[in-house]
Parts: sequence; structure tokens; C-alpha cells
Amino acid sequence: MRLRELCQEGRRRLEACGIEEAELDSRLLLCGALHMDTGAYLAHMEDDALPEVTALYERYLSERERRRPLQYILGYTEFMGLRFRVDERVLIPRQDTELLCELVLSEHKDRDCSLLDLCTGSGAIAVSLALLGGYSRVTATDISEPALELARENLRLDLEERDLKAASRTGADSVSATACIRQNISFVCGDLFGPVREAMRAQGIEAYDIIVSNPPYISEQELEELEPEVRLFEPRNALWGSEDGLIFYRRIASEAGSYMRAGGRLYLEIGFDQGREVSELLRKHGFINVSVHRDYSGHDRVVSAEAGL
Ligand code: GLN
Repeated sequence: MRLRELCQEGRRRLEACGIEEAELDSRLLLCGALHMDTGAYLAHMEDDALPEVTALYERYLSERERRRPLQYILGYTEFMGLRFRVDERVLIPRQDTELLCELVLSEHKDRDCSLLDLCTGSGAIAVSLALLGGYSRVTATDISEPALELARENLRLDLEERDLKAASRTGADSVSATACIRQNISFVCGDLFGPVREAMRAQGIEAYDIIVSNPPYISEQELEELEPEVRLFEPRNALWGSEDGLIFYRRIASEAGSYMRAGGRLYLEIGFDQGREVSELLRKHGFINVSVHRDYSGHDRVVSAEAGL
């Protein structure tokens, strides 16, 4: 069978299961089985499929039919133009979360900054800010040790890709710059701020300039209404934000101030309907200049604030 026909058959199977993006998913899974990007696939779609490709594609399709997310099947996703490994240990980084990273990068050009990322999961936020912002000291925490193992792998992965690119482009200086980033980022396990004091001592940080987080924020009722991909496969402790979805914002709002310098900046991703409540929580705990930022779909997505004196 030709690759094009194989792909069409895949599309029909996924459509039959009610998968919305059947066409895109069937193509991306075939590209994954072929180890090709879309361009290479389009150039080869009249080729005959090798038996091992057909077998692997078959496995991918049946996983997708069971609603396993595409990114877990392929084993990676893209975030901020970087590649991150993902599997059931971590929440799949969402494109919406790039807004938080872009805000931080645009407001903090100075590399001599310390940054804390709470609930780092795959490390998507911490790793992209460390790499793209070049911040001198980054701490990332998560309650799940298996998630942190993957986050550490993601740091190595991106650094290695960058090392290679940098070496081919500009030579040794960029390579030593990435080696430097490797030393400046620390992943520590614990409940929210639990492991932070010790990490600060180890990294020589007195108070953070920036704190960021995309904590779990789904309410109990919303959890039951999520699509099967999320509900059945993504880690529940990366989604569950208590009865009303706000527990982590309450804890962060009350504790963050004592880990930040006055004037330090806090950035929190929120659910589309949590802007008002999270802003109020932050004001109540002495944060000033609280603002809500919208994502590209026009939904409230990030709250930023400044630590008062
Ligand atoms: N911080 C990670 C992300 O944005 C994980 C978030 C989470 O597990 N709630 O992808």
C-alpha cells in the first residue's frame, strides 16, 4: 500500500472514533512512524509503505483510537520553539502557556535575574525561560519526582540541540553559554514552596526577582467534563485545583511575597474565568499593579502582579 493510502485509511479510522482532528492526527502519526517531517512525507507519499512502518503506524492508530493524546504517542511536543519530551508523567504543555513566557521575556531583558517556577511539570516554562531569557539563576519545583525526572531530561535535550546548533553557527562561545545554563537551573521536589528555602541557600538567592506558575486550576466539576484525552490520560494531580479550582492561587498569593524582593514580579496562568478572583486574592495579600492578560483567543489567561514593600 502506498503511504498516501495508508494515511487515508488512518484518517477514516480516527474519524469513525469521533476524533476531531482526524486528518491532521493521521498525518502526524504517519510522519512519526516514518521519522519524517511533513515536507518529507509529502515528497514521498506515493512510495510503498515498508512493513515495519505499517506495523508501527497501526500501533499508533490503535492508541489514538483509545484517545491517548497525540503528543504522548509521539513522545514529544513543541513549546516556545523548543522540543519537549512528554509522557503520562506530565501535563502536555499547551500553546496558551506561551503567553506567560512571552510576557516574562518581554518584561525582563536583564539576564542577571533569579526566577522560581512552581509546579514545573515537564519543565516547559522553566527550561524555555532559562534558555531564551538566559536568566542567571532558575529554581523549578514540582511535587512529583517522576515529573522532575522528565523535566531534567528536557533540559539536557534542549541544551544538546542548542549546543549542536550553536557549535555549527557561532563556535565555542555559545556552547559555553549553554553549559552555564545547565549549572544555573535547579529542579527540586516538594509541595509548592516546601523545598524552596533550601534551594535558595544552595543557589545563593536571597529573594526572587520573578516567580511564575501554571498550577493545576481545574475545578472538581470541570474535571468530569474534560475531553477523554485529558481526563483519562493526563496526570490528575497536574489538573486538580480543588473544589473551586483556586487552591493553588490561594496558597501562592499568601506565601509568594516572602520569597520575593519588593518590586519583584509574579506571573500566574489562570483559567479563562478566574481573572477576577485571582486578582482579588493577590491584592488582598499586598500585591500591587495587578493586571489580567488575554491570550490569542481573547480569553483571560495570565495574571501578573508586583510584590509590594
Ligand atoms: N508548568 C507546566 C506547564 O505549564 C505544568 C503545569 C501543570 O502540571 N499544572 O505545562
